Amino acid sequence: MFRRMRLAGRIGLVAAYLTFGWLFGLALVVWWFLATVRAFLRARRALAAFTRCPRGHTVAQFGVFRCTCGAVSEGWAWICPICRQESGYVDCDTCGRAVRNPRLG
Ligand SMILES: [Zn+2]
Ligand SMILES: [Zn+2]
Repeated sequence: MFRRMRLAGRIGLVAAYLTFGWLFGLALVVWWFLATVRAFLRARRALAAFTRCPRGHTVAQFGVFRCTCGAVSEGWAWICPICRQESGYVDCDTCGRAVRNPRLG
């Protein structure tokens, strides 16, 4: 009697897993999909020719930039070709305010 109840409990657990287990997988796939879309949109914004500072000025993302390592180089604003470090922000040419790296969100 007791043993049979334990068996029924185990079958119930397996049935519950088979019924609802896929929900966890679905949530994981949805989360992964949204993270991929978000990363794609951030990369698209970071690769555009211009971005905007908090005051709305146009800031070029390609040009001559000085890295914190001291190197002055021409190219993409966000990754230094000398030390390979990713920059967190660049200064707006008009108002001097920090413009956040779009790849960082
Ligand atoms: Zn550098
Ligand atoms: Zn500005």
